[in-house]
Amino acid sequence: MLYISTRGNSPAVPSAEAIKQGIAPDGGLYVPTDQVTLSNPDLEKLTSLSYTERAAFILQHFLTDFTSVEINQCVNAAYHQNKFANPEIAPVKVLNSDTAVLELWHGPTCAFKDMALQILPQFLVRALTKTGEAAEVVILVATSGDTGKAALDGFANIPGTQIIVFYPERGVSEVQRLQMATQEGNNVHVVAVQGNFDDAQSGVKVVFGDHDFATLLEQQGFRLSSANSINWGRLVPQIVYYFSAYADLQKTGSIKAGEKINFVVPTGNFGNILAGFYAKRMGLPINKLLCAANANNVLTDFIQTGTYNRNRDFLKTLSPSMDILISSNLERLLYELTGRQGEQISSWMAQLKTEGSYSVDEATFAQVQEHFWSDFADDTATLDTIQQTWQQQQYLLDTHTAVAARVLQKYRQATGDNSYTVIASTASPFKFNGSVAKAVLGEQGVTGKNEFSLLQDLSDHTHWPIPQGLRDLDKKPVLHQQVIEKNKIKDVVKDILLG
Ligand SMILES: *Cc1c(COP(=O)(O)O)cnc(C)c1O
Repeated sequence: MLYISTRGNSPAVPSAEAIKQGIAPDGGLYVPTDQVTLSNPDLEKLTSLSYTERAAFILQHFLTDFTSVEINQCVNAAYHQNKFANPEIAPVKVLNSDTAVLELWHGPTCAFKDMALQILPQFLVRALTKTGEAAEVVILVATSGDTGKAALDGFANIPGTQIIVFYPERGVSEVQRLQMATQEGNNVHVVAVQGNFDDAQSGVKVVFGDHDFATLLEQQGFRLSSANSINWGRLVPQIVYYFSAYADLQKTGSIKAGEKINFVVPTGNFGNILAGFYAKRMGLPINKLLCAANANNVLTDFIQTGTYNRNRDFLKTLSPSMDILISSNLERLLYELTGRQGEQISSWMAQLKTEGSYSVDEATFAQVQEHFWSDFADDTATLDTIQQTWQQQQYLLDTHTAVAARVLQKYRQATGDNSYTVIASTASPFKFNGSVAKAVLGEQGVTGKNEFSLLQDLSDHTHWPIPQGLRDLDKKPVLHQQVIEKNKIKDVVKDILLG
């Protein structure tokens, strides 16, 4: 299996090369050349396997340049009991006769990004050997919170790599800041930037685009790379849990073999839900993929109208990991739905860059509507849904998952479709405990309290345990204290690597 670029102007490469490069040389995203199809007996077989076995089975179809021994090493290192608090890795909790929750947050950082960022470093070290890479790979990350910690935890102590994470000094929550500042590992660097997320992100982009700097680093044995969600190595492990959820529900009799179900996915960069689309194309019986957005509802508008328009205000919401106006992975979907028209994709992406918007043709729009449905929930609806779900079902949702739960209600009202539906739950409620505690304990329960006492209050009230990764965070030693001006990002990278 080879990988080609969505912009149609890069040579086809094996998966190891695609994972090492991250983004294709023509600026496009790598996609597999061939369609993978699983048979009904394959689906049946998955029901009796563990999560790691399911993962190995799915991944071997895509990473054909990896041996089965290598794939097994990757999945066993990534989805290990030392890292995941639940032995099922991605357990499914049945809420009622037609709804279940797929919990994707039992990893070390309590958000679904662990599902991909625990295994990406495993793929990458093997990809480096396979491609004969002599340089040490330096992962640069600008983060608004979740990605930074998940990448740090995944790359810590991985041989042949260094990781440098930049976060906005005042742009992350106290829990998120401490998660990063207390990170251990002999190859990790964490730097606060005086500015907002855009400042950190722009600074990192400038470093990536600086060819002279890349040459200088190359001479010293370093190669820059990124761990963001356009890397195929982050997308492909996400396909696994769609199959795994289906297998679990079939095994326990909640659904019948072959029954078509829906998934509702809290969406930002369109990575998670795109993995669901690939699962559907591989033969998983999925009816609709429901794309749930927050008030930054650029994707909802796109799925409803066929026009993508990012010319609007960027809103800060209670589901910050979905505060995104450019959903990079949509490019992969459009490539597939247009029948792989690289030139067409290049022209839409150019329009997005220059005008901030583009409209797809009728045929592509019809395809979008065949597979997807979308709506959004604002902050008030989000808090409402958390409170309601706790009261009615004693199930605790985080803010992102609550957006999905509300959109599912809207979908059922609008369409009358009562197919069995799985809610993809992307974060532990304790990770966004300020908002969750407010919804569950009420305004008076949270006023004047800091994030750490609220963790305990929320746990006491609900009898849900505080996840290991968040417990005692305020007592761990702070190992990273550097704060820099926003125009010093390149200097810091240079200092760290070249001394
Ligand atoms: C990243 C993230 C999302 C959005 O996922 P995409 O793949 O970017 O669409 C949703 N919820 C949480 C908690 C996240 O961290």
